[in-house]
Amino acid sequence: MSVREDLRNIAIIAHVDHGKTTLVDQLLKYSGTFRENEQVDERAMDSGDIERERGITILAKNTAVQYKDTTINILDTPGHADFGGEVERIMKMVDGVILVVDAYEGTMPQTRFVLKKALEQKLTPIVVLNKIDRPNTKPDEVVDEVLDLFIELGADDEQLEFPVVYASALNGMSGYEPDTIEETMDPIFKTILEHIPAPKDTGEEPLQFQVALLDYNDYVGRIGIGRVFRGKIHVGQQVTVMKQDGTTKSFRVTKLFGFSGLKRIEIEEAKSGDIVAVSGMEDINVGETICPQNHLEALPILRIDEPTLQMT
Ligand code: GDP
Repeated sequence: MSVREDLRNIAIIAHVDHGKTTLVDQLLKYSGTFRENEQVDERAMDSGDIERERGITILAKNTAVQYKDTTINILDTPGHADFGGEVERIMKMVDGVILVVDAYEGTMPQTRFVLKKALEQKLTPIVVLNKIDRPNTKPDEVVDEVLDLFIELGADDEQLEFPVVYASALNGMSGYEPDTIEETMDPIFKTILEHIPAPKDTGEEPLQFQVALLDYNDYVGRIGIGRVFRGKIHVGQQVTVMKQDGTTKSFRVTKLFGFSGLKRIEIEEAKSGDIVAVSGMEDINVGETICPQNHLEALPILRIDEPTLQMT
């Protein structure tokens, strides 16, 4: 089976303040999606508060960055243990993770929490040792500490081979050795492309899309965000939703959204591997699988445990 060399799906995980947002902002800046007149003033991942106020749980943000011919979807993950279900659902949409660790502070409680989830999902990890510019950092010791944590959390042999990139996200610098970082994000982009598996291209097989997160928009109503695991989905398509209680319901896809930089953009069609937002069905819920009417096959049940998801 062929793969989507033009696509990578990753989650970014870290203890709070270790530099996820700063790193994603830098990747955006260095990627083809950043335009001079497009300020990155609404920081990549800081709109959680607004969404919480609206009562919608989509703390996760997707930022799509472009490196050469490849689109990299970077999904933010909440580090807090209260959102364990959401973290798991995000990790079901990706093939790898970037673990950001502060080179001065080392591993912290949320590093452990999110890394454990990623390893359990058998995701391919990359470690970014950030804030290498801080005085008195001991990068080698911190890498050993990270390795110990991987072992303790039961990483498999492949996961233990994680590559390390050193960075000062604040200064837009990165490199393969702590003392040779330069002002470019290429080492991080290249490591993602080389190490994170590309999604499978399933061609014309029957559609399977699973809703992992919900959003709401005044114009189109409720929106289900998820990954196309198989086949294709297009605007106008008549599809069936398979609910987690076993019932089904038919609807027509009214709009599809992909991602570009920090923005959501309308698209006509998506295919296996793509992470997209689908509208057209008012009572869609997390965990539900969307299929063609003549080929009903649900994806495995997803864990939903946040009280905020009990929307009426
Ligand atoms: P997040 O909570 O993981 O998203 O962390 P942020 O990206 O918001 O960064 C937390 C703080 O660390 C901010 O004050 C950043 O300016 C700072 N920071 C991020 N990256 C670096 C870095 O490479 N070096 C230094 N010295 N500070 C950094």
